[in-house]
Amino acid sequence: MDGPAILELREVEAAYGAIRALHGLSLSVRPGEVVALLGPNGAGKTTTLRVISGLLRPTRGQILYKDQEITGRSPAAIARMGIIQCPEGRHVFKNLTVWENLLLGAYRLRDRAQERQSLEWVFGLFPILKERLNQRAGLLSGGQQQMLAIARALMAKPEILLLDEPSLGLAPRVVEEVFEALAQLKAQGLTMLIVEQNAEKALGLADRAYVLEAGRLVLADQTARLREDPQLVRIYLGR
Ligand code: ATP
Repeated sequence: MDGPAILELREVEAAYGAIRALHGLSLSVRPGEVVALLGPNGAGKTTTLRVISGLLRPTRGQILYKDQEITGRSPAAIARMGIIQCPEGRHVFKNLTVWENLLLGAYRLRDRAQERQSLEWVFGLFPILKERLNQRAGLLSGGQQQMLAIARALMAKPEILLLDEPSLGLAPRVVEEVFEALAQLKAQGLTMLIVEQNAEKALGLADRAYVLEAGRLVLADQTARLREDPQLVRIYLGR
């Protein structure tokens, strides 16, 4: 996939107090592309998503979205621009119903017609949510809560969806279901940046991947090539 990036990080540094989490990270995502961020625990993957969505201000470097610098803007402003972060599944509103959770995601929609359209879209991807519409989210299984978290993010009509560990803690069969939905979204042309521990799944879905270690980029390539990279295969795919 060629052409200009929709999202670009240039030499981004980030820290938590004295702990430096990113050391000059540069990466890009082009429209319609699915990009995976891989790496061991503490590599800086979640931090990368947090600096993009405005939850953490980089100490250096630039973040560009559609050729506009967005470094240091508020999370609300960044979300309004269409960069939507989907948190890990435990972060749904447990005391609210599935329906209420979905409507909370709908803040970028203009009217009821758009709302209906978006609901139909997410029910097509996750039919179980339609069946559980009036149930409290806290009563859903872990997998269904993850689906709800993704569905809520989709209700915001993302131009780029940032996914943090969508397979975390899920049974293999549910991981399949979630990745099946992500593959459908990819086929629909949705741009995604996905952080995922399950390298096999992430490399199967993504067009390109970046591998981080200790806040630095160590590998970046097309996933088709990375899957043949001996270092990556040894460390992440366990073959
Ligand atoms: P994981 O898969 O474990 O979430 P990750 O690649 O997402 O790993 P980050 O969570 O981005 O890694 O963490 C990068 C570094 O920043 C680590 O050294 C981590 O200990 C540190 N860190 C992350 N969050 C905080 C925080 N809130 N306060 C202090 N240090 C933090």
